[in-house]
Amino acid sequence: MFRRNPRIPRFPRFPAAVGILGAAALFSTSGEWPWARLDDTPIALPIVVTDPYKVVSDTLKSGETIGALLSRQGVIGLDLSGLADALSFDPRRLRAGLVFAVRRDAISDTPTQIDVRPDDQQRLRFIRTSAGSWEGSAIPIRWTTDTMRLAGEISTSLVEAFDREMSEATLDRNERMKAAYALADVNAWSIDFSRDVQPGDRFATVVERLVSEDGEVRFGRVLASDLHINGRQITAYRYTPATGKSAFYDEEGKALRRAFLAAPVEFRHVSSGFSNRRFHPVLGIYRKHEGIDYAANSGTPVRAAGNGTVIRAGRAGGYGNLVEIRHRDGITTRYAHLRGFGAGIRAGVGVTQGQVIGQVGMTGTATGPHLHYEFRVNGVARDPRSVKFEAGEPLDRSDRPAFEAQRQLLATLLQRGGAPAPAPLLAD
Ligand SMILES: [Zn+2]
Repeated sequence: MFRRNPRIPRFPRFPAAVGILGAAALFSTSGEWPWARLDDTPIALPIVVTDPYKVVSDTLKSGETIGALLSRQGVIGLDLSGLADALSFDPRRLRAGLVFAVRRDAISDTPTQIDVRPDDQQRLRFIRTSAGSWEGSAIPIRWTTDTMRLAGEISTSLVEAFDREMSEATLDRNERMKAAYALADVNAWSIDFSRDVQPGDRFATVVERLVSEDGEVRFGRVLASDLHINGRQITAYRYTPATGKSAFYDEEGKALRRAFLAAPVEFRHVSSGFSNRRFHPVLGIYRKHEGIDYAANSGTPVRAAGNGTVIRAGRAGGYGNLVEIRHRDGITTRYAHLRGFGAGIRAGVGVTQGQVIGQVGMTGTATGPHLHYEFRVNGVARDPRSVKFEAGEPLDRSDRPAFEAQRQLLATLLQRGGAPAPAPLLAD
């Protein structure tokens, strides 16, 4: 029943135009950024005449079984679930929305071949034999990696900047957002993207792109970035130390990771920046505001800004549900108006940086869901931006030569425009 098909056919699920645009981007040698030249001009596609057949696409509907779809297509004697083990696919991944391409004989109109892609890694092909039974094969989908530089001005937000600088053909909107969020994550210790960005700030980044043989384009990883935000320059280079996980380092080989995250809510969740209003909307009085408010949907995860020990987790007047954490060097952080607490969060337990300690809510005096965050040094509320922290941990001396070679390679890519280039061979 199982047979490998060495030929990789085009799969009709994906518009050929995507493939053409992808190829144009890949093979452009003009030195311009290809996405700057791509436009919406229709492209005449060559028509290839082959055996008389037609391909009908049918989409698995919500609540529908595969059997129902096959029977609608007049397919008899094909048991997809029965082939799952032999073809090593998970029948549960055959979900609503999945497109089945059914090839039908042009004269008899009988189905002769069915293609479906349960995931990004393989497509399944079922072919009807002359005896009327069905044979299945799993065909791996090949992905190639390239790198591209992206640069521009950030006028309102990182996501908006990526939308402006990148065309649909380079990365679609969903993948662009992933790239923007990944860039924010790389710099999560240095920049609070929901409140640090000023008009005229700039970014440059080198990211990996994965391109499938079907022409789909996905965001891969951030390899390097160079940010000019609010008067500061932060450069980041991906590197994998000989003993350890890949991380980001600055020009001097110091880790970007610091004792405190710049923000306790991930940038992707913050809806409208921060408000530093002194006028309290509930109390109706002017008062000193000792924290930073992050507007986010109720239920958004709140993470510990740094390693420490929970010294309070419970109800606290106007703060509502409050978590307070003690860190090193006389620093405490407070997270207020929480809807609820993270698993196991109670006074006395240790937490690690990034650990979810609660969810955004509006308990206590709050007119809408938001996180009220306080950063205190020896009990005095401070803006964490104004606090000078220790530099990141430097790379081990033995890692320096390899890091420097990789840094130079990435620095060149950061400065150079041009078409997407083959991915450099990084240690990770
Ligand atoms: Zn507040």
